[in-house]
Amino acid sequence: MSDLNVMERVISSPDADAIGGYATYCVGCGTCAFLDPAFTIAKNNDGCYQAFMQSGIQNPAKVESACPFASSANEDVIGNDLFGSQAGVQHDQYLGYYLNAYVGYVSADGWRSRGSSGGMVSWLASKMLEDGLVDAVVHVKDGPDSEHMYTYQVSHSVEELKTGAKSKYYPVEMSEVLAYVRKHEGRYLFIGIPCFVKAVRLLRRQDPVLNERIRYCIGLVCGHLKSDFFAKSEAWESGVPLEDIARVDFRHKTPGSPASDYAVEVKRVSGGEPVVTRTAELSTTNWGLGYFKYNACDYCDDVLAETADVTFGDAWIPKYVNDGEGCNVIVVRNQDVQDLIDAHRDELVLHDSDSAEVYQSQAGGFRHRRQGLAYRLHVHQERGEWTPTKRVKPSLDGISEQRQKTYAMRTMLKNESFAAYREAVETEDFNVFKKHMKPVEKEYAHVSVPFKKRVLRKAKQLVKTALPASAVKNIKILRGGGVASGIYLTARSFHTFVFVASPTLVPIKRTDVVDAFSIAYSAFNDEQPYVLSA
Ligand SMILES: Cc1cc2nc3c(=O)[nH]c(=O)nc-3n(C[C@H](O)[C@H](O)[C@H](O)COP(=O)(O)OP(=O)(O)OC[C@H]3O[C@@H](n4cnc5c(N)ncnc54)[C@H](O)[C@@H]3O)c2cc1C
Ligand code: SF4
Ligand code: SF4
Repeated sequence: MSDLNVMERVISSPDADAIGGYATYCVGCGTCAFLDPAFTIAKNNDGCYQAFMQSGIQNPAKVESACPFASSANEDVIGNDLFGSQAGVQHDQYLGYYLNAYVGYVSADGWRSRGSSGGMVSWLASKMLEDGLVDAVVHVKDGPDSEHMYTYQVSHSVEELKTGAKSKYYPVEMSEVLAYVRKHEGRYLFIGIPCFVKAVRLLRRQDPVLNERIRYCIGLVCGHLKSDFFAKSEAWESGVPLEDIARVDFRHKTPGSPASDYAVEVKRVSGGEPVVTRTAELSTTNWGLGYFKYNACDYCDDVLAETADVTFGDAWIPKYVNDGEGCNVIVVRNQDVQDLIDAHRDELVLHDSDSAEVYQSQAGGFRHRRQGLAYRLHVHQERGEWTPTKRVKPSLDGISEQRQKTYAMRTMLKNESFAAYREAVETEDFNVFKKHMKPVEKEYAHVSVPFKKRVLRKAKQLVKTALPASAVKNIKILRGGGVASGIYLTARSFHTFVFVASPTLVPIKRTDVVDAFSIAYSAFNDEQPYVLSA
């Protein structure tokens, strides 16, 4: 296979599951366009950035070796070169090479409240600037208009840096900002999602100037990237017409509620108060459903930005998620970064962590991108379809039939979400999107939720329906156990649930209880001690 063919295949390859029969494995990072004028980056029909290629590529091998979906150098190889020889370094199949792991947040100067999570990314970037490790920071900030809500830009001061905090679940590309770095001398910090960091590492390998200038990379944990349909649908469903959307803040914090219960804030072209809506009230924000996901993301096995000097994510762990202000999960790979964190530790609240806890914070993502990827690669292999070469190999080993169906349904959810959104735009009615997706979501729930859990949910619904409204009002979710009286349907785990007719101690605080609840026929009264109720 020639070099040219690999780039062509990344950009478009047969895929029997895709609407139209072709899929792209391109994440639209812009590396190829930076290297060669034969490539341009533009939004495709799905609102995702993608490379488009003309004939006359100057040096196909150069482009191929820097494209994160075409290069033969994987994250283990790159990580080993960068970090493998440091004293005390460890390797983990999920974290990559690492020195230390932490969970924590910034306690100084409002970084945490300005940030998406614990504010650590912007804080560390500011320390790198202040302590003279770098002169400028390449990161994603407010863009010029509503079709480019966010773009890669360069900040030279802490004040400029502050205006770029928070996660942008929005298409971005870096061809222009790379050209800027190539043209302007200086020492740069690059901030990006794993595939972008990988592309920067690959570029540094072939370009001594970029190698010298891009001194450090901060990685963001990445579940997947969203098409611009995501921002538009969130705003539209929040009540802002498409033509009136100026910008969407995807991570508007709602103090007092768990970190996972955040909101979106939509600014309008017409001005006035921004519209704030809890993501839980919107139909496109369940990340597990993968609506408007770049197709490339389903063929990416790097969740933790393994080629970055340090990676930050959200600590989606019960112990920390209840803190509405947000907590970071942190993986340090470069000793310079470790030294910087140690030097300014008085500005942080940090708890030591380990690979198991970091894995746990992203467990769903890892399942989808390791086991799920093995399944998807197998399906393509069986159909004789090309896919990028990954560390994960095509296989069905250890994947139950139910899991296989779940992964297959996720592909359908992703593909149908784009079609449904386009239909909604054509008919100028967001309900068309919901109507289109409802049966697909229902089918997904059917295949992905195990039988016992479905029975449990049904029973819960039945009891709720059968109860008088006054009793329904008093439904309590018990997390710590308690004493109660009346008739209860008590679920202790997916495996056991029982009716209890007499005053009973309900000890349900157990680690294997995933969905424990207790429903009172007669209302709880205030004298009955239960630890937590909702
Ligand atoms: C597309 C995407 C998917 C993510 N998926 C997950 C996930 O599944 N699990 C998880 O734990 N965390 C995920 N994250 C990371 C998480 O949302 C936070 O960014 C991270 O926890 C850092 O929070 P912070 O408060 O320390 O960062 P902040 O202090 O808020 O700083 C964030 C920095 O990241 C930069 N940035 C924001 N968006 C982008 C972008 N699209 N590309 C490049 N740079 C950007 C900003 O310019 C800013 O410098 C994702 C982030 C993105 C952008
Ligand atoms: S992933 Fe990046 S480098 Fe590869 S084709 Fe797409 S835009 Fe170009
Ligand atoms: S999931 Fe992978 S391919 Fe997709 S945006 Fe994140 S790092 Fe890039």
